[in-house]
Amino acid sequence: MAKEYETVIGLEVHVELATRTKIFCGCSTAFGGRPNSHTCPVCTGMPGSLPVLNKKVLEYAVAVGLATNCSITRYCKFDRKNYFYPDNPQNYQISQLYLPICRDGYVEIDVPEKDTPGTKRIGIHEIHMEEDAGKLIHDDWEDCTLVDYNRSGVPLIEIVSEPDMRNAKEVIAYLEKLRLIIQYLGASDCKLQEGSMRADVNLSVREVGAEAYGTRTEMKNLNSFHAIARAIEGERNRQIDLLEAGKSVVQETRRWDDGKGSSYAMRSKEDAQDYRYFPDPDLVPVKIEDAFLEEIRSRQPEFRTEKMARYKAEYQIPDYDIEIITESKHMADIFEATVALGSQPKKVSNWLMGETLRILKERELDPEDICFSPQHLAKLIALSESKAINSTVAKEVFEQMFEKDVDPEAYVEEHGLRMVSDGDDLRKVVEEVIGANPKSVEDYRGGKERALGFLVGQTMKRMKGKADPGSVNELLKELLK
Ligand SMILES: [Zn+2]
Repeated sequence: MAKEYETVIGLEVHVELATRTKIFCGCSTAFGGRPNSHTCPVCTGMPGSLPVLNKKVLEYAVAVGLATNCSITRYCKFDRKNYFYPDNPQNYQISQLYLPICRDGYVEIDVPEKDTPGTKRIGIHEIHMEEDAGKLIHDDWEDCTLVDYNRSGVPLIEIVSEPDMRNAKEVIAYLEKLRLIIQYLGASDCKLQEGSMRADVNLSVREVGAEAYGTRTEMKNLNSFHAIARAIEGERNRQIDLLEAGKSVVQETRRWDDGKGSSYAMRSKEDAQDYRYFPDPDLVPVKIEDAFLEEIRSRQPEFRTEKMARYKAEYQIPDYDIEIITESKHMADIFEATVALGSQPKKVSNWLMGETLRILKERELDPEDICFSPQHLAKLIALSESKAINSTVAKEVFEQMFEKDVDPEAYVEEHGLRMVSDGDDLRKVVEEVIGANPKSVEDYRGGKERALGFLVGQTMKRMKGKADPGSVNELLKELLK
């Protein structure tokens, strides 16, 4: 009988923190910029330069730790992780090995499997603070590699989970949960594609019922949920094939190639001792006082579960809408701000659930990318509700708003899009249409209701869409009596 295997997965998630300056110097963390323009002696590893910890990094790390049920290390230190690579100007990375800032936490994920509904607890082994490395650029010149240190010293937290996940769905549920918590905290935008959230997957397989873990491999370069799911499936099968063939799995770091749908060995996986860690003598240990901890605790935001409960009580919108809107802190903020400006909650929700999601999906964007303001959405809803514009025009204006955050009122005036619902203009056009389409008029009078639709269409066309179809309909009926 064929053996049955269980997959065991743990994750190392790196999150780039949303501080304005780097972790140990005052250089900007802004993305892009001319290569090596956001640098100084500290983040380029010049001898004699001294790092000083950015307090904001500590605040974010503690906030994430509290939100993930960790215990906070009251006396923590930084360590040097030694390795030689051109993206690392000091020849060591400042990280935390012995006394990481947070330990022993967990998050609850909804278990997506049908047979075991409910929640599952995924343990968090630790969270530590560290600095990012520079970036090597290989592609722009044929015979050399250049290095950009703008990213060197950008603050990261690394969230190390326990090996508690068993399949790709659990991994994705866990990542989504982390992303949501961190976005709600405002600690990072957590974009996988842009690298502000990066996940390394540690995976091993073992026979069902076995106690000991199998040999694990680590997979890097996973920059979408889709790539993660595919890489897990691929690696699980690769390891099982090896074991079935009587071979053994080698402990190594592998790089996932999403284009080819396969991974290849990068290097044998190092153990901590290979990095010759030692406490950084340039940085003083961090002592966390009660007052600091209390301050962070008091500043924790309303997280998604609480927000969902409040929406249910406060706004008359369906549960499904609540679920989608609160999936993004940014979208929830827009929703609340627009309602606060006087728009009806369901109307706001309709624009977010309808056109907004449609455009986001079409352009493969995240809700975090929405850039129109609540003021403008409220104006658009008001224009639409007062029938100053019809639904077709409203959608057109919305697209402009989504694109450039244009002011809907100004845009409607500028392009003459205000609807004509009564008055002489519309009556004149309807009369023209009746005069120009005697056959349809005859059909309608002869009892063919469908002919009326054609006449409405002709009128709308002449009005360049600026009429309210309902009013056109009524007026036609009245004039054709
Ligand atoms: Zn610097």
